[in-house]
Order: sequence, then structure tokens, then C-alpha cells
Amino acid sequence: MQTQTPPKIQLQEQAVTHPQWGFLRGQFVPIADAKISIMTQVVNYGIGAFGGIRGYWNDSKQQLYVFRLYDHYRRFLNSGKLLAAKLPYTAEDLARITLDLIRREGYRTDVYARPLIYNATEDITPRLYDVEFDFACFTRPLGNYIKLEVRACTSSWRRVDDAALPSRGKITGSYVNSALARTEAHWNGYDEAIVLTHDGHVAEGSAENLFMVRDGKVYTPPVSENILEGITRRTLFQVFNDELGLPVIERSIDRSELYIADEAMFCGTGAQVASIIEIDHRAIGDGKLGPVTRKMQDAYFAVVRGENEKYSNWLTPVYA
Ligand code: PMP
Repeated sequence: MQTQTPPKIQLQEQAVTHPQWGFLRGQFVPIADAKISIMTQVVNYGIGAFGGIRGYWNDSKQQLYVFRLYDHYRRFLNSGKLLAAKLPYTAEDLARITLDLIRREGYRTDVYARPLIYNATEDITPRLYDVEFDFACFTRPLGNYIKLEVRACTSSWRRVDDAALPSRGKITGSYVNSALARTEAHWNGYDEAIVLTHDGHVAEGSAENLFMVRDGKVYTPPVSENILEGITRRTLFQVFNDELGLPVIERSIDRSELYIADEAMFCGTGAQVASIIEIDHRAIGDGKLGPVTRKMQDAYFAVVRGENEKYSNWLTPVYA
């Protein structure tokens, strides 16, 4: 029997310029060689954990600052711990590898680093014992991940529950949940989804934590509401308190409370601080960027770009 030549798959044109370098199996490799086998457990079962780290270019200082690099790697290793994954690296080692990758590319623009700890074992039983985990990383330029003013809808998908899959860490497979929520929002004409917990409380966006402003007070769901323990969320706790004089209150938030909130915002490494101006066809506040969110956006960008000296301990300069 003659086999037919399969048709060539047309890959979509990538908007991103590929980096030159990646890190895999203990070494720096040209990105074209940074490949993982189709037989691995990470490819088949999503058994891995990842991170997302931003660096901001400061033109006047001619410097690229990586934001909360060590905090990101501490959470990254904790995400690995949820999978009982062990790596022969400390957070400091991983930070060094990341800085080296960024330097190799020579970026003079805002960047993103994507570390991954993955189950590299090639076997069909999904498991966390008797397997080998490896560390991989690449970098890329990154502008805004979502718009800074967004229209959101409540997703019909619920957030993964900690009793089924740990949501406090960035577990690779659990991002199917994010993809379902985000896709539903997109197909229905919204910019982003708000995902509820199984008992109907507000958890977060598909890839962002959420804050609400009501009567001059700032609220966000606690980490026990199946949210990712966001680094930006923690950053906002401090910046709200120290720069805006608004201590953040952690408590459960109902869906309908968001409808009558004065302001709401998403935050995350990718999303930064984005104003939610509409939810499920209700204007939030006046339906435009509110004063508290505007102040937080200004304060946040000053912090991450290295324009507020008070927070310089959160920044790691890339270039000497
Ligand atoms: N929630 C989810 C589900 C996310 O993927 C992200 C992005 N990492 C966030 C929240 C925000 O987390 P961070 O501020 O650490 O980027």
C-alpha cells in the first residue's frame, strides 16, 4: 500500500521575533535546538510548572530592569514543589541563567522570560514519582499583554479547585482552564474573562488577579479562593498601602458586587494594571478609567520601570 505524503501544515505567522537562545538540559542552546520529545509527560499530560517574568527598559537610564526576579523564582520553585519536582538549582541559579539569556539577546526593549520545569520522562503512566524533571527557559520581547482598559464577562467555566488541581501555582496543565475561559470571552466579543470559584465567588481573570474599589476601599479575594498567588497582587498590596494610603482588604467578593463596584482592575505580570471598565454589559463606575486605578497604574509603571527609587530592591539591572 502506498502512503500519501501528508499535506504541509501552514503554521501561523508568528508576530514575535524569535529569540536566539534557550536553556534546556543544563545548557544554553540555539532556540532551534531547544526541543522536547512528543513522548514526554509534559507534552502528553501537562505535567510541568512555569513562570512569567517581565523586564522593563528604562531609556533615560539605558538599563533593563527585571522585576522581582527572585520572588518569581521562589514561587516557581514552590510551583514545582506542588508537583514534588526537584531541580538541582536554587532560585539564585535560575535568576543567573535568566539574566544570562536576556543578555545574550541584547534586548533594549521590554521583555518577558518564560521558565519551565517539566516532566521529561517518556512513559505513558502520568505520575510524579520515578520521573525526571528538567528546567527550560526562553525570553522574548513583550509589550502590553492585554489592553489597559478592558471589557470583561463572567465565564461559564469555573476556576480549577485546589481539591482537584493546585491553583496557587502556575501548573502547566491547569492553563487549559485559562484557555477555555479566555476563548469563551473572546468568541463572545469581550477582552477578558472573570472566573468564579465553584461556590460562585470571584476568583480572578484567565491570567490576572482582580481588585475591586468600593466606597474608597480596595478589596481582593484571598488566596484560599483558588487564585494564583500573584507577584503583582503582592506588589499592589504594598503600593496601594504605601503610595495611595489604601490598605488592601482580602475577602470573598460576589459576582454581583463587581457590577456595583466603583472601579475594578486586573493585575498580573503580563496584564500589568488594567482597568475593567465593563462587566457583563454593566459599566463599572462611569465606564471609564477610574481615579484609583489611574493612580495605581501610574504608581505601578513608575515602580517597574525604575522611576521610584523606594522600590529599587525589587529591580535587577540586566546590564553592567
Ligand atoms: N492568575 C493567573 C491564573 C495567572 O496566570 C497570572 C499570571 N502569572 C496571574 C494571576 C498574575 O500573577 P503574577 O502577578 O505573578 O504574574
